[in-house]
Amino acid sequence: MAGMFQGKVAMVTGSTSGIGLAMARAFAAEGADVMINGLGDAAEIETIRRGIETEFGVKAGYHGANMLKPAEIRDLVAGTESKLGRLDILVNNAGIQFVSPVEDFPDEKWDQIIGINLSSAFHTIKAAVPGMKARGGGRIINLSSAHALIASPFKSAYVAAKHGVTGLTKTVALELAQSKITVNAIAPGYVWTPLVERQIPDTMKARNMTEDEVKKNVLLAAQPTKEFVTVEQVAALAVYLASPVAASITGTTISMDGGWTAQ
Ligand code: NAD
Repeated sequence: MAGMFQGKVAMVTGSTSGIGLAMARAFAAEGADVMINGLGDAAEIETIRRGIETEFGVKAGYHGANMLKPAEIRDLVAGTESKLGRLDILVNNAGIQFVSPVEDFPDEKWDQIIGINLSSAFHTIKAAVPGMKARGGGRIINLSSAHALIASPFKSAYVAAKHGVTGLTKTVALELAQSKITVNAIAPGYVWTPLVERQIPDTMKARNMTEDEVKKNVLLAAQPTKEFVTVEQVAALAVYLASPVAASITGTTISMDGGWTAQ
């Protein structure tokens, strides 16, 4: 399937790290020009952007739109279309987490999580759909979570936002069903990202556990395989959903969670 996305353009929100970066690289590996987005150190982001161009021989742009700002999100979509010529694959991936009992949950954290994890996808979709319709098709992929299907305590904003992503995915899929634009969500369980890796040393100390015990008995307590999902696995599913053979998959949330939500 080499070069499947030659001549296509992918834009991935929150792609300066973790799952988003793996997806941007996977689309570039298939020949797509890519627009990356996210927060972080300017020099490190430039190294990532240039690395994608040299490794895969595609054009890579960067836009620093904050997913809390609708005007900046509109500019991200418009900037992708003007700098790279089109937008065929839109991936709504940017996301943050905050953990607290509901009665202590800070109002501003609730607003940020709903804004970044849910509303930003509404704004990118609203801005991207006219161009996709005009060009005769497209793919929209939302990075959801096992928490789109089930809940865990103390994650009220995150679970509400991810359940909201399911509703947005279904609704927009129906609206675009005859426009050759598919809309789907990927629902990972625990994915091995730097974010997860950084929690391990402190948890080892706090619980007097080995690294393996922390992974299996704390982080992966709910994940039956006792294995982390990898960013490459999530990226490969995104590539599949963006490919021509996935044209009939729309309006669905696909789990990649080691059996978590089968319980
Ligand atoms: P990460 O922290 O490694 O990456 C998040 C990205 O979002 C970064 O590029 C960051 O800069 C960007 N971002 C954060 N706030 C932003 C803002 N205001 N504007 C623009 N960009 C912003 O996280 P990740 O683990 O790769 O998570 C990516 C997505 O996958 C999220 O939607 C998350 O909810 C989902 N997810 C992650 C896991 C997991 O175990 N890691 C599991 C299920 C779902």
